[in-house]
Amino acid sequence: MAYDQENIFAKILRGEIPNATVYEDEYALAFKDINPQAPVHVLVIPKGEYVSMADFSANAPAELVTGFIRAVGETARQLGLEEGGYRLIANTGANAHQEVPHLHYHILSGRPLGPMLSR
Ligand code: AMP
Repeated sequence: MAYDQENIFAKILRGEIPNATVYEDEYALAFKDINPQAPVHVLVIPKGEYVSMADFSANAPAELVTGFIRAVGETARQLGLEEGGYRLIANTGANAHQEVPHLHYHILSGRPLGPMLSR
């Protein structure tokens, strides 16, 4: 699947759409989800044109893979989620209902989250 330069997270990375940033470095941007599913719901995206985990894991340079994963962990740390715990989700493709075609991890926390899948 080709990268769509007009997807909403590409626009956020270009600064064309505002976001509520919680963490940023040279590899990644973390911001609050606009439709939170838990008291803490943050998205972390790599600074690069990658559709999905499949695309990113196969094609991103090692420095960006490392930097992005570190940024996910650092975001959770800075949000104070280590002690109580949190859930990471990276929806990939149709079966997972991926809506935005730019790789993102959801960080969910702030209450007991229940079973991993609703059904
Ligand atoms: P997914 O289904 O994994 O692709 O999730 C996409 C997520 O992006 C959803 O949880 C949306 O609420 C969120 N989202 C869509 N547009 C925005 C936006 N402009 N700012 C923040 N989050 C957004």
